Amino acid sequence: MAYKTRQVTLDGIDIKVTYKPIRNLRLAVKPPDGSVRASVPTGTSDAALWAFLRPRVSWIREAHHRMVRPVREPKHVESGESFPLWGADYTLVLVPWAGERIDEAVNVAGEHLYLSVPRHSGEASRKRVLERWYRAQVAAAIEALRVKWEPTFDVRPTEYSIRFMKTRWGSCNQTTGRVNLNLELVKHPPDIIENTFVHELCHLITHGHGPQFQLEMSLRLPHWRAERKLTKGIVIGNSFWE
Ligand SMILES: [Zn+2]
Repeated sequence: MAYKTRQVTLDGIDIKVTYKPIRNLRLAVKPPDGSVRASVPTGTSDAALWAFLRPRVSWIREAHHRMVRPVREPKHVESGESFPLWGADYTLVLVPWAGERIDEAVNVAGEHLYLSVPRHSGEASRKRVLERWYRAQVAAAIEALRVKWEPTFDVRPTEYSIRFMKTRWGSCNQTTGRVNLNLELVKHPPDIIENTFVHELCHLITHGHGPQFQLEMSLRLPHWRAERKLTKGIVIGNSFWE
């Protein structure tokens, strides 16, 4: 059966709307081109459609762009290479430092990532400086997320650690209260680390992804399901860090 469809444009993004005999409005961003589809109950009014779509515009935009433009992995720590940070790309500029004192620093300005290293530093040491800096970015993000989300939980993690993991974004040990977050999160838009963070804290309360887990997530992040689907679509391996 052919359902009634129409195309609407929200903030420059085309959305294909299909009217179906369903109960709830649904939204999906489809790989590989990031096309946006909305399925809505037959007879949904325009007002109801826009009331559904408008609050989700930033999510739609991010999900769309993420699919259209996946993270590019840099090959070398050389000027001109592109390095990802929280979903955006920055062009590396090496700033060789000629002095005797080792003065390493990473600074972001505009679309550039400035890496100051001693003039004769090799690839391995530049990579180490960058990795340390990326870890610090994740640590700062965790600090902000702790302030925002920990008060909404009765149980809190005893410790957070940042690790490179090949197969998952985060993990949680209910017994020790330790939460691990993947260093790779630093490459993707901030909502991914936020979703992962809340996900792992929910595991402090409940095992698995059953009804209680879903309720805990929905209370805090209403769009977590769609976000999780997108996050699962990202291939973690083949990282620069390996
Ligand atoms: Zn889980």
